[in-house]
Amino acid sequence: MSRQPAVATKMSREMDKPLISLHLVDSDTSLAKVPDEAPKVGILGSGDFARSLATRLVSSGFKVVVGSRNPKRTAGLFPSAAQVTFQEEAVSSPEVIFVAVFREHYSSLCGLSDQLAGKILVDVSNPTEQEHLQHRESNAEYLASLFPTCTVVKAFNVISAWTLQAGPRDGNRQVPICSDQPEAKRAVSEMAITMGFMPVDMGSLASAREMEAMPLRLLPAWKVPTLLALGLFICFYAYNFVRDVLQPYVQESKNKFFKLPVSVVNTTLPCVAYVLLSLVYLPGVLAATLQLRRGTKYHRFPDWLDHWLQHRKQIGLLSFFCAALHALYSFCLPLRRSHRYDLVNLAVKQVLANKSHLWVEEEVWRMEIYLSLGVLALGTLSLLAVTSLPSIANSLNWREFSFVQSSLGFVALVLSTLHTLTYGWTRAFEESRYKFYLPPTFTLTLLVPCVVILAKALFLLPCISRRLTRIRRGWERDGAIKFTLPMDNALAEKTSHV
Ligand code: NAP
Repeated sequence: MSRQPAVATKMSREMDKPLISLHLVDSDTSLAKVPDEAPKVGILGSGDFARSLATRLVSSGFKVVVGSRNPKRTAGLFPSAAQVTFQEEAVSSPEVIFVAVFREHYSSLCGLSDQLAGKILVDVSNPTEQEHLQHRESNAEYLASLFPTCTVVKAFNVISAWTLQAGPRDGNRQVPICSDQPEAKRAVSEMAITMGFMPVDMGSLASAREMEAMPLRLLPAWKVPTLLALGLFICFYAYNFVRDVLQPYVQESKNKFFKLPVSVVNTTLPCVAYVLLSLVYLPGVLAATLQLRRGTKYHRFPDWLDHWLQHRKQIGLLSFFCAALHALYSFCLPLRRSHRYDLVNLAVKQVLANKSHLWVEEEVWRMEIYLSLGVLALGTLSLLAVTSLPSIANSLNWREFSFVQSSLGFVALVLSTLHTLTYGWTRAFEESRYKFYLPPTFTLTLLVPCVVILAKALFLLPCISRRLTRIRRGWERDGAIKFTLPMDNALAEKTSHV
């Protein structure tokens, strides 16, 4: 497939203005002139990736020769220190050649087989999601099958052209690398280090398929927690809609549909945040209960509990997100036109009733306390969210991290519970609050958090806490370690007395 001049013009327009512009690259004399003894690297292809790669290689001290089907057209897009020539000439001298073309064009390179024999080909390609499902063999394995006399190394596919141009200064940039030839892998790893990246050995070329799936992933650890949060939101929103909008409409002929965008959302968000926070600590309680019941820690948890334990960080962050949104919505409540009308109407009512001073001491205190508890809970949650960032988490030792995530997290749960209780106050006992016989929403949300808090309090009892600590130090009730093999029931349990 030949590239049109219009495409070349567009490419030059877009790629001539990256983070490191060609002007900057060439204005740096160290990039414009590469010493003769510098190692030579070849690149096949002259697209976005090839140009960024050439820029990075030149600035890392390599001699670069680019092989293009039309070098005249593309030469101006590369740093002047890089040599742009025909494919045949470009692959003749370098030992390492990057293949920066798409999989469907690999076969068009077969004419270069003789010149490429014995060289290292670096496959940087990424399939689309459809291609990944369609082909069982990875792009790198396909390339290896087309060029059996070459050594194929899969690398750099997780690095975007943008990152290559900017360089790895924006943080730790890992470059997974795999190949069947350790020497070739080492050579490419050393190049990655020279370019400022951190190579990660992924083993043989069979890992290429896994590496090619990496850029296709879309936040895999967030799928279940996000679905959980969405599910909770929909359930609580529907419940609040029935109580706050439908019931007044059906039973009192009052139109409260204006509450849907702000008021109902703001009643729903704290419910979701609170229940999610309790779901961060519930699996820990279940795990401890299982260990106490089994009298050992050497017994696998069920898969669902394992997965739940692994997703606690994401569930906690989603809880923080909902709580932060709740705080923002609450700030906006007085800005609403409906709120202003309500205030004016209340004032008029008071004047008509000849009441000059409205002050309910209990209500004043309730609100002061529940607002303060809410702010404290949100502050503590923010601390948890900040410490779950990898850069912050890495700066804490294990004790500090578990103190913040476990102890402070539990404090946030207790504060949220107190916030909910002071918000609800005596409403749970007022008959008028049971719309359509449905209890107020806050009473429902208290269920799981109260179970977690009670269980945690029980685990603090010396008799239970001592036993749990011993189990977690390796003690077993029957003095034996049980190894459970999942598949074969007959061989499943082997007991070794230690
Ligand atoms: P691109 O801009 O479309 O460049 C592809 C290049 O392939 C063309 O410039 C062309 O150069 C060359 N080519 C060789 N034979 C060809 C043929 N028969 N038909 C069409 N083109 C042919 O694509 P790219 O973004 O640079 O991506 C290149 C490879 O890098 C892909 O495998 C991609 O998956 C991988 N990659 C890209 C990025 C990224 O951020 N762009 C990131 C990671 C990996 P000549 O016309 O000069 O021959």
